[in-house]
Amino acid sequence: GPGYNEALLHKTILVGDSGVGKTSLLVQFDQGKFIPGSFSATVGIGFTNKVVAVDGVKVKLQIWDTAGQERFRSVTHAYYRDAQALLLLYDITSKISFDNIRAWLSEIHEYAQKDVVIMLLGNKADMSGERAVRTEDGASLAREYGVPFMETSAKTGLNVELAFLAVAKELKQRAVQAPGEPRFQIHDYVASQRSKSSCCAFA
Ligand code: GDP
Ligand code: MG
Repeated sequence: GPGYNEALLHKTILVGDSGVGKTSLLVQFDQGKFIPGSFSATVGIGFTNKVVAVDGVKVKLQIWDTAGQERFRSVTHAYYRDAQALLLLYDITSKISFDNIRAWLSEIHEYAQKDVVIMLLGNKADMSGERAVRTEDGASLAREYGVPFMETSAKTGLNVELAFLAVAKELKQRAVQAPGEPRFQIHDYVASQRSKSSCCAFA
């Protein structure tokens, strides 16, 4: 649309403990498939460019995956620099990965841009038999930090496109925002999608 530069790439990063499914989530979003088994720490897919259509307008996301540095707690400041959006993941079968979200958020607040778009994702929602983190606990942590939240599955694809779409909508809306105009609210969007969902995944 007028005033919105469709050529602009929005740097989007994936953050969270090793093993929560960051690489799998990106592969599912990019290729629509799930490759079982751990990705090697050295298989850094680097970044993937994806175009998401938001109200007929192309929003280009440049999505960065870590190369496994989080295993050594050495995600560098450079990774956060210039990121406009950030998907923060935990694994619903791992209480530790959920407890570590607070530490990730303090790192984000320290190193990322102040206005970075953040989305909290509880991944591996397909593994309900091994659930260790209740949906409502994810939701309440998200509320505490004022970030939107949904549960995803990189395996089944549940909410994967939706998570990136919500982020893309927010980025686009920020870019075209005119002063005084009512603003797209990522929280409201996530909440509206919740009512359409057949399952418990949204909060
Ligand atoms: P990363 O270290 O955060 O990049 O995590 P990976 O993408 O390498 O995934 C770690 C492990 O969890 C792998 O064995 C994946 O196959 C598995 N995994 C990732 N996402 C899901 C998911 O949504 N559901 C299930 N069942 N397994 C997943
Ligand atoms: Mg990985």
